[in-house]
Amino acid sequence: MSFRLFDAPLREPSQFVGFAGNTIDRQSENRADDSVDKALADPRTRLLLMNGGRLYLKSGDGGFDPWYRVAESEPFKPSFDQGVLLGFSEHGPVVAVLAGIDAEQLPETVKAIDYRSVYMQGLIDEAAAGAMAQGAALMAWHASHRFCSKCGTQSQMRAGGYKRHCPNCGTEHFPRTDPVAIMLTATREKCLLGRGRHFAPGMYSALAGFIEPGETIEAAVRRETLEEAGIRLGRVVYHASQPWPFPYSLMIGCFGEPLNEDIQADLNELEDCRWFFRDEVRSMLERTHKDNLVTPPKGAIAHHLIRAWVDSQ
Ligand SMILES: [Zn+2]
Repeated sequence: MSFRLFDAPLREPSQFVGFAGNTIDRQSENRADDSVDKALADPRTRLLLMNGGRLYLKSGDGGFDPWYRVAESEPFKPSFDQGVLLGFSEHGPVVAVLAGIDAEQLPETVKAIDYRSVYMQGLIDEAAAGAMAQGAALMAWHASHRFCSKCGTQSQMRAGGYKRHCPNCGTEHFPRTDPVAIMLTATREKCLLGRGRHFAPGMYSALAGFIEPGETIEAAVRRETLEEAGIRLGRVVYHASQPWPFPYSLMIGCFGEPLNEDIQADLNELEDCRWFFRDEVRSMLERTHKDNLVTPPKGAIAHHLIRAWVDSQ
């Protein structure tokens, strides 16, 4: 007899979002301090080269290739001592490394492309995009946590890049993931979408905000919705999550049921915020809206929240 906690779907909603295709076996219990050195000595090892928020991609007739052998990576002056072991793929170890040469110095056949464009333009497969998100988040964390936050001494990378150790006070620092709540407030008929001041023309999306210390996910969803739109929420339901390497967030997507209708938008945060009926939102998803209003692209979890609501009964 098999034990089932509940009837989970074969594919959870989180498996459809951008950056969710990471297939790396992290083996987090086996991260010795020499694990990067060992990986770099393994002829099967493949590297991702990163610099300044961009991935270095080999470009050719067959599209883009993000993977480098160790020897092949050497012209790019990688900082091997600052490499991060992401884990193990079916092909062998996978390491993310900071490239030492700037994008301007790259040969014709290699392009430096920012992470968002790499993903949104579908330049690499889902598994590679997931590995990129993992590597990008870790590289960004190391770049902004070089010194011990307790005593100010320069800290050292340990555990294959999953820890920093302070040689002065002995404090260990671990990579951060910052939770962000993103929520679609909706009734059966309509949903609440807002326009941030920096959004692309015509785009409306679900509201979002950082979860604060001491707050549950549900409390953050209710607080952000009230602060940004003046809408009080009753029931809040989790839907899906998404790794979001800008720089190292986890987007937590929820639905919320509104208790009032009158919107009082925070115009410091939002340019506009209003209710949209289901047919209008469908046309925004399908890029057929009469005024060219659109929802975020497929890579964004907001797209999946909005799609799930539009398709719900
Ligand atoms: Zn210290």
